[in-house]
Amino acid sequence: MFPTPTDTGISRAEAYRLIRAAGAELLDLFQRASRLRDARTGPVITYSRKVFIPLTNLCRDRCGYCTFAREPGDGLAHTMTPEEVLRVARAGRAAGCKEALFSLGDKPELRYPQYREWLEKRGLRSTIEYLQAMCRLVFEETGLLPHANPGVLTREEMLELQPVNASLGMMLETASRQLLARGEAHFECPDKVPGVRLSSLRNAGELGVPFTTGILTGIGETPEERVDALVAIREIHEQYGHIQEVIVQNFRAKPGTQFAARPEPSALDVARTAAVARLILGNRVNLQVPPNLTRDSYAFYLFAGINDWGGISPVTKDFINPEMAWPEIAQLRSATSEAGFTLRERLAAYPEYVCSSGWVPEALRRGAQAWLDETGLVAQDREGA
Ligand code: SF4
Repeated sequence: MFPTPTDTGISRAEAYRLIRAAGAELLDLFQRASRLRDARTGPVITYSRKVFIPLTNLCRDRCGYCTFAREPGDGLAHTMTPEEVLRVARAGRAAGCKEALFSLGDKPELRYPQYREWLEKRGLRSTIEYLQAMCRLVFEETGLLPHANPGVLTREEMLELQPVNASLGMMLETASRQLLARGEAHFECPDKVPGVRLSSLRNAGELGVPFTTGILTGIGETPEERVDALVAIREIHEQYGHIQEVIVQNFRAKPGTQFAARPEPSALDVARTAAVARLILGNRVNLQVPPNLTRDSYAFYLFAGINDWGGISPVTKDFINPEMAWPEIAQLRSATSEAGFTLRERLAAYPEYVCSSGWVPEALRRGAQAWLDETGLVAQDREGA
């Protein structure tokens, strides 16, 4: 299903020009991006049926737009017990999910002594050790394929997680150091230093971990800085070939956050950025825009060269953007089909990674095979099963 990648992507200078394209140039941009996508996956648009497991919402960072992270004792802070994790995972499996998406704050044990004690009481040294145990538990008990998003990972931490994850993820978000300044999105966020996140991407490449990353638009970066982030991702992927997917995610203003009154990117701006991302990345990488962050008009993004809608949960809300419901899978299928495409279910590792040896740990790959057809996507009679 996937052709040998040939396109090398546009230059940074061309991307700087196109990221501000309008009128006829914008239409041409959408057509070029669509042609590249068609050369990769034709009319097939994928999604992953997943269950969302917010292992802990404690975090040592303080991003200006975040409502996920909580302070211990504020009434909403919570670290899931193994029993809770398993209950959610089993509900997901019963609803036909095949991916367990673990989302959690970054290194909370470095900020909160009471959370450190919580870990110590259970004989755990770190959140990553707990995460590893929960990924293993979920895979062994339910067969769901774990995909963990625990933030920045050292090489050693990645080695801990690799055997129990089909793939790992961490949004680069931005390559702009300007956003670390006081009043900006990543002030007091040691894990949002772009160089630190780029090192994590390289660690994943060196270890051969299929990896999901992407950019977050509208958090104070300039259009050119979006291009810089995408080019940085491309450069790392050229070296290791492990970036299975790039997400172009739009910022949503949430009440109660420092960024509550910030303007959100328009759907047109998101589409233009996605199309430029496709031209930068060429036909080598899967490109996603989450459908639940743009009410009603998300099908429009299909004309900007994307080929994936990401993880869709039939049982749990999007804990990072809880106010934005995921579209029903039936509705997503109908919107995709109305635009002239076909929706297919994929696993937490894309076909090009799950079908070749050496990327996904063998036990997980064996588990995955039972769901797949010859294209590496979920067989149509196993969708939702
Ligand atoms: S966005 Fe992520 S890293 Fe930033 S505060 Fe929220 S949970 Fe922590």
